[in-house]
Amino acid sequence: MTVSPPAGLEGRHLLGIEPLSVEEILRILDLAEEYVTLNRQAVKRTDTLAGLTQINMFFEASTRTQASFEIAGKRLGADVMNMAMQASSIRKGETLIDTATTLNAMHPDILVVRHPHSGAVNLLAQKVNCAVINAGDGRHEHPTQALLDALTIRREKGRLTRLTVAICGDIAHSRVARSNILLLGKLGNRIRLVGPRTLLPRGFAELGAEIHENMEEGLTGADVVMMLRLQKERMDGAFIPSVREYYHRWGLDAAKLAHAKPDAIVMHPGPMNRGVEIDGDLADDINRSVIREQVEMGVAVRMAVMDLLARRLRAGRAAGETG
Ligand code: ASP
Repeated sequence: MTVSPPAGLEGRHLLGIEPLSVEEILRILDLAEEYVTLNRQAVKRTDTLAGLTQINMFFEASTRTQASFEIAGKRLGADVMNMAMQASSIRKGETLIDTATTLNAMHPDILVVRHPHSGAVNLLAQKVNCAVINAGDGRHEHPTQALLDALTIRREKGRLTRLTVAICGDIAHSRVARSNILLLGKLGNRIRLVGPRTLLPRGFAELGAEIHENMEEGLTGADVVMMLRLQKERMDGAFIPSVREYYHRWGLDAAKLAHAKPDAIVMHPGPMNRGVEIDGDLADDINRSVIREQVEMGVAVRMAVMDLLARRLRAGRAAGETG
């Protein structure tokens, strides 16, 4: 393939959507399309990352993101290692930076990092001389999630602009919401944030998003309905009246979805809580829900990102760049 690396990845890392240009985003998505095709074939292997070492460091629980990065790396031919962070020296009091510099001495090429603190991945990226991919840092950014969501939307809607996208639920604690607002905003979509006042940060209105406390109102005419999980692990107080009341007012069911466009798609980054933010039957309805497709697109997007970063890495090394 002859795609040259996008400029936002020129800094070697993918730390967020914020620094990416529209051209860079589209180039990642276009390359991901090629990986969607590869992933549907019987033999899914390439040697794009052959000889390179990828280490996954997840300091916070993950099911699909970690599995997705591991499968993506293996399909590209990398040597992939998953650090068992629960059993690591962090438990013995080692700092994040010491762990990173220790690993750096083993010459990895790509570090995939998830951390509960916003900004921790950016900090770590400054201390190592390999490519770093942010797999979610606190409530800050989750760039590959927004990219896989964008790919899913583009495939379903045939475009990624001039759409009305309702992002619903716990916006305040969600890195998924933040990265999606940034990405969809750059591409000229209308973004509505819908949820209880306690979970709607006012700052996002400055980014051009509309704020709605009422689901029926927020969903009216929407092309895309993106539900978010209640991030209880990031809540330090009572943000919702009760789970029952929350579901009644902000949980997505067929009656509320009827306010969106008849062909509106339903998304959720997972893990989802059935009967809390979404009705279980609706989540499984293949005519409305694209939740499984999101997971499929996740592998392809991560392959595209690692492919592009590896090209940049190799080009930099050939030019004699060091950390
Ligand atoms: N899996 C996503 C994340 O890591 C969403 C969630 O956990 O609710 O941010």
